[in-house]
Amino acid sequence: MRYRDLVEVYERLEATRQHSEVRTLLSELFRATPPQLLPSLLYLSQGLLRPEFEGIELGVGEALARKAIAQAAGVEDGQVRRESTVSGDLGVTAERLRSGQRRLEPLEPLEVEEVYAELRAIAASRGDGAQEERLRRLTGLLVRAGPVEARYLIRFVLGSLRIGIREMTLLDALAHAFADGSKAARARIERAFNLCSDLGWVAGELSRHGLEAMDSVTIQVGRPVRPMLAERARSLPEALKRMHGPAALEYKYDGLRVQAHVADDGTVRLFSRRLERIDAQFPDLVATLPAAVRRRPAVLEGECVPVDPDTDEIRPFQEISRRRGRIYELDRLQSEVPVCLFLFDVLLEGTDLTLDRPFPERRSRLEGLIAPGPSVRLAEQRRVEALGPAEEFFDLALSEGAEGVMVKSLAPESQYRAGARGFWWIKYKREYAEGLSDSLDGVVIGAFHGRGRRAGRFGAFLLASYNPEKDRFESFCKVGTGFDDAALAEMPGRLAPWSCADRPPMVDTGLAPDRWFRPGLVLEVRGAELTLSPIHRADFGAIRPGSGFALRFPRFTGRFRDEKAPTDATSSTELRRMYRQQVRQSAPGTGGG
Ligand code: AMP
Repeated sequence: MRYRDLVEVYERLEATRQHSEVRTLLSELFRATPPQLLPSLLYLSQGLLRPEFEGIELGVGEALARKAIAQAAGVEDGQVRRESTVSGDLGVTAERLRSGQRRLEPLEPLEVEEVYAELRAIAASRGDGAQEERLRRLTGLLVRAGPVEARYLIRFVLGSLRIGIREMTLLDALAHAFADGSKAARARIERAFNLCSDLGWVAGELSRHGLEAMDSVTIQVGRPVRPMLAERARSLPEALKRMHGPAALEYKYDGLRVQAHVADDGTVRLFSRRLERIDAQFPDLVATLPAAVRRRPAVLEGECVPVDPDTDEIRPFQEISRRRGRIYELDRLQSEVPVCLFLFDVLLEGTDLTLDRPFPERRSRLEGLIAPGPSVRLAEQRRVEALGPAEEFFDLALSEGAEGVMVKSLAPESQYRAGARGFWWIKYKREYAEGLSDSLDGVVIGAFHGRGRRAGRFGAFLLASYNPEKDRFESFCKVGTGFDDAALAEMPGRLAPWSCADRPPMVDTGLAPDRWFRPGLVLEVRGAELTLSPIHRADFGAIRPGSGFALRFPRFTGRFRDEKAPTDATSSTELRRMYRQQVRQSAPGTGGG
C-alpha cells in the first residue's frame, strides 16, 4: 500500500466532522489494507508505533525535524524556522517547501510498510550516533515524500498526530470493516481490546480470523487491561439504592491507581491508569510484590498511596505525585515518601481469569492470594445493607485519610468490566458530604491572553468534557480563577506539546480562544453549579435545543490530573446526570439544597 493513499484518507478524515463518514472512510481503508499491514496501519493512525503501553518514543524533537526538512528541501535551517513561525505547524511548512520543489526525475513512491519500518528504526536508534542516524532516516523519507506525505510524516514524528483518530472510532470502523457493524459485533471486538489494550493486534486477529477470534482473547501477563471505572452518587442513600441489596463499601484511597502484573518468574510490571509502565518509579513495590503474592502469575489492582513510615497513616496525595515521572533520587524519595499499595481487585490468578467472576468471589480470592505486609495491603472493606453502618464506615474512612468510599455491587453480574464505567462501582466522596460541589476533570482545548496583572501570559483556559458517543471534546467552561503564579507559569510549558494553529477537528465550542490546543492536558475544577449556555457545547441540545452544559464560577483546584488521559475527563453524559440531579435537589418540596 502506498503511503500516499493513506495520507489521502487522513486528509479526507480531517475535512469531515460527520462520525458516520469517518467510520465509512476508515472501514474502507481497513478492508483495502493487506492483513499483515493492518496492525502497523492502526498504530500509525493513532500516532503510535506500537501499543501505547510499550512506551516507545521516537526521539525526534522540533530541531531535528527542522533540520531534516531543510536538508530534504535543500534550504537553510533558518528558512524553515521562519516559515514555521508563520504557519505554526512544521508539517505545513514541510508540505509547502516540498511543493515548491521540482524534481528532475520521479523518485520511487513511499510504501506504508517502508515508512513504518523506517520510523521503527528511528525509534530504535541508540548510542552515540543516534541523532545523526535519526536525521539521516527522516531526511531519506522526506526526500521521497510528496507534499502531503511530508506534512503527515512531520506531524507524526512530532507526536501531533497522537490524538488523530480515537480508539472508539477505530473500534467502530473495525466492526464495520470485518463484521456486520452491529452493536453486538462491536462489543465483542471492544471486549478483546479491553483485555489486551492493543488495537493493532486486535485488528490483525479480526481481519485474519473473524469475530470468533475475539471471544478467545484473554489477559496476558505484562499487557495491561483497560481499567474498570466508577460512576458517582450525590448521597450514600442514593448509592446504596442503586445496589438493590447488600453492598461492599471500601475506602476510596486518594493516590495512583496501579495495575500490577506479577509473572510466573516473579517479574513485576506496574501500569498506571493510563496504562503507562510505572515500575521504574516504584522499585520498592517491584521488590515486595512477588513475596506478597502467594500464587503466580497474578494481575492485581490497587491504589498506591503515600504513608507515614512511623505511624502507617495515609499521607496526602501531593506527596506521591513527586514520585511520578522521577528517575533520579529514587532512593531518597523512597525513604522520605514510602508507599503502600492497597489492593482492591484481582483479574487473573494462576490460569484463572478471575475477572469474569462476581466481585464477592474476586474479593475472597484476593484475600487468599495476598500475604499483607507494610507496603502491600488489602483495601479496607465492609459489607453493609443499611444506611447506618454505611455512614459509620464512611466517617471512619475519612478519619483514616481516605477521600471517601467506593460502593461496590455484590450481585452475580458484578464481574470486572474492563474499560467500562458503570454503576457496579459508585464513588462517594467527602466533598459531596460537605455540600461542596463535585469536582470535574476538564481537558484544556484553548487559552485566552491575560490582562492587567496577567498581561503577557495566559489569563484563562477553555475546558472541555469528553463525549464518547460522538468521540468529541465539548467545551463547558472558561476558567481563570484558582491559578496561583506558579501554576500559571507552568501552563505554557505543559500546553506546548498540544498547541495547534486552528481549532482541532475533534473539538466543539462556541468560543474562539486566542490559542487552540489539541486535547491533552486535564485539570481538576470545581464550580457553583451547572447551567445551560448557548456558547458551550457539552451534550449540546440534550436538555434544550441550542444549549450545552456550562459550569458557573469555575475554579481550578490546583490539581493537574496527569494520570488521566483526555478521554478519561468528565464525560458529557456525566454532566447531564449531574445537571439532572441538581435540578431534582433544588426542586421545591424535596428539601434538598
Ligand atoms: P475517580 O478517579 O474520581 O474517578 O475515582 C475512581 C478511582 O478511585 C479509581 O480509578 C481508583 O484509582 C481509585 N480508588 C481508590 N480506592 C479504590 C477502591 N477501593 N476501589 C476502586 N478504586 C479505588
